[in-house]
Amino acid sequence: MPVESLFERLEPLLPLVQKPIQYVGGELNSQVKDWDACDVRWCLMYPDAYEVGLPNQGIQILYEILNEQDGVLCERTYSVWPDMERLMREHEIPQFTVDGHRPVGAFDVFGVSFATELGYTNLLTALDLAGIPLDAVDRGDEHPIVIAGGHAAFNPEPIADFIDAAVVGDGEQIVLTITEIIRDWKREGRPGGREELLFRLAKTGGVYVPRFYTVEYLPDGRIRRVTPNRSGVPWRVSKHTVMNLDEWPYPKKPLVPLAESVHERMSVEIFRGCTRGCRFCQAGMITRPVRERSITTIGEMVEQGLRATGFEEVGLLSLSSADHSEILDIAKGLADRYEGSKTSLSLPSTRVDAFNVTLANELTRNGRRSGLTFAPEGGSERIRKVINKMVTEDDLIRTVTTAYSNGWRHVKLYFMCGLPTETDEDVLQIAVLARKVIEAGRKATGGRDIRCTVSIGGFVPKPHTPFQWAAQADHETVDARLLKLRDAIRKDKQYGRAIGYRYHDGKPSIIEGLLSRGDRRVGKVIRRVWEDGGRFDGWSEYFDFDRWTRCAEEALRDEPVDLDWYTTRERDYSEVLPWDHIDSGLDKDWLWKDWQDALNEVEVEDCRWNPCYDCGVCPQMGTEIQIGPTGKKLLPLVEVK
Ligand code: SF4
Repeated sequence: MPVESLFERLEPLLPLVQKPIQYVGGELNSQVKDWDACDVRWCLMYPDAYEVGLPNQGIQILYEILNEQDGVLCERTYSVWPDMERLMREHEIPQFTVDGHRPVGAFDVFGVSFATELGYTNLLTALDLAGIPLDAVDRGDEHPIVIAGGHAAFNPEPIADFIDAAVVGDGEQIVLTITEIIRDWKREGRPGGREELLFRLAKTGGVYVPRFYTVEYLPDGRIRRVTPNRSGVPWRVSKHTVMNLDEWPYPKKPLVPLAESVHERMSVEIFRGCTRGCRFCQAGMITRPVRERSITTIGEMVEQGLRATGFEEVGLLSLSSADHSEILDIAKGLADRYEGSKTSLSLPSTRVDAFNVTLANELTRNGRRSGLTFAPEGGSERIRKVINKMVTEDDLIRTVTTAYSNGWRHVKLYFMCGLPTETDEDVLQIAVLARKVIEAGRKATGGRDIRCTVSIGGFVPKPHTPFQWAAQADHETVDARLLKLRDAIRKDKQYGRAIGYRYHDGKPSIIEGLLSRGDRRVGKVIRRVWEDGGRFDGWSEYFDFDRWTRCAEEALRDEPVDLDWYTTRERDYSEVLPWDHIDSGLDKDWLWKDWQDALNEVEVEDCRWNPCYDCGVCPQMGTEIQIGPTGKKLLPLVEVK
C-alpha cells in the first residue's frame, strides 16, 4: 500500500512554529527511496531536536548503510519542539520523517539511538505522536518494532516496557542482520506474528528483547535474578563489535544540515574504543578494544566527504583523537593536502598528555585555530588517581604552554564534580590549577590576553564502569562545592578575571543517575513524568527537577525503593545489577577490582602500550586491540570503495 507524504498537511503549520526549517528535510545527501520498491523500511530517530540530532554520527552511518541496500529504505525523524507537538495533536498529524514526511507508524522498524538517558521522555512523545502504543505488549503486527541503541542502551531496563528490543555496541552489521530477519519473516507471510519476529531476533544472541526476560526482586528492593522466560533466548545478550573499520568507511556522504546545528563540520571517526581506563567513562569501557581506522582510509574519507558536502572544517573524531598511533602523519598529510584552502582541522577531544608542538602546528597550518579543550576531569592529583586519569599538573602546564605559545589565546578545561571519594579540597584545587594555567600562558606569551574557561559537569555513575557500584553525590553536596569553587575563582584578584567559569547545578545529574542505573520499575517514573508534561529533559529550560522528584515519589509509592535508593546508595559486590544480563565483555570481577583500586588510589596503565590486564573484553568478544603504526602515508590518496 502506498504511504502518502504528510507534507501537504504539515506545510500550513510551519509558519506557526519556531525554526520551521528543521521539519522540511531535503538536506544535501539525504535520500527518499520509493516506498513500494522496498520491503524493509527503517525509521531512525535521534530523540532530541534536529539541531542536536542531525550531526549524530551513529544515525548518519546507519542511514547510509541501510539506504545502500537494495529493497531497503531508511528515513530519519527527530523530536519535535512542544509548539509543533501541540499543533500536530490539534491537527492530528502523526510523528513524521523529515525525508519523505511519511508517518513513523508505517515503517517496519523504529530505531532510536540514545546518547543520553535524558532523551527517554522524548521517546514517549514520539511513540504517542506516531500512534504506536507506549507499552510494547500492546502493540500489534501493524506497528513497527521499536529498537533502542546507542550508549544508553547498555542498560535498557528503565525503558524495557516501551521498547520491543535493544541492540548494544556497533550498529553497522547488526542492522543488516535485523533487516534480513524481518525480510524473511515478511516473505514467509509473517508466521507467528510479532512475537515470532521478536523471538527470531532474540535467538541471534545479539538483540535483547525485554519481554523474554523476567525480573524478580528481593523484599528489600534489590533484584533477586533476571532469567529468560522462553527457551532458546540467551541468558546474556552480547554487544556487537566491528573489527575492521576500513570495511565500513561511513558516512561517505555526510548530511549537510539545513538549519543551524551543534556541529557544522565534516567528521571522520579515526578510531573506536579507548583503553585509557578512565573509571568514570562509560564510553571508554563499553567500546573496547581500540580499533584504529587506517591513515589511508581516513585521508580518502576526508577527501570524499569534503567533496560531497562543501564543509570547511574537518573534525577527527574518537574518544581521544591524539592517541591514534599515526595522528601526526594524519594531521600533516591533511594539512599538506589542503594547504592554501580554507579547510581547517580540529580534534574535538584531545588528551592533555598527547598534545604537542608538532601536532599544534599541523592543526593550525591552514590558518584557523579552533577551540582547544582539555579534560583533566579532576582538580587534584589525588582524585585523578581515583578516576585513573593519569595526567599530572606538569603535563597540563606543559600542554597549555604549548598551546598558548602556538597562538591559542583561549583554552577550555573540563572537570567533573561529585566523583567518588571527592572532598571540597579536591574541587578547590581546580581554582589553583586554572590560576597556574593563566600564569603559564602569560609567561609563555608575555601578554595578558590569555584566557581559560573552566567547565564543570556533575559526575553520574554509569553501568559497565568500575563506578557502577558507587554512591552518587547528592545535589546539595555538588552545588555547595561548585559555589565554593566559584567564590575561590572570583576572590583571585590577580588571575580570577582571566578565568571563565561554567557549571550546571547538580539536579539534572541526579535524574540522569536514576535513569542510568535504574531497573524496570523506573519505567513507571518516566511514564508519569511524560504524562505530567516532561519533555526535552536534557535542556535546562525544560528540565524540571521538582516534577521528577514528585513523579518518582508517586510512581514508586508501592515499591521498597525510591530516588535516593537508585542514586546515592552504594551497591555491594553481591548485588545483581539491572544490566548484568547485558554483556559488554567486561568481566564483573575485573570491574570490582578496578573499583577497589580506585578507592585505594591505584592507577592502571593503558593496555595499548602495556601488557593486557584482563578486563575480559578481548577473549569474551573474540576481539583484539588493533593499532598501528602501519608506516603508510596519507598522501597520495587511495580511493575507498
Ligand atoms: S582484554 Fe586486555 S587487551 Fe583487551 S581491552 Fe581488556 S585489558 Fe585491553
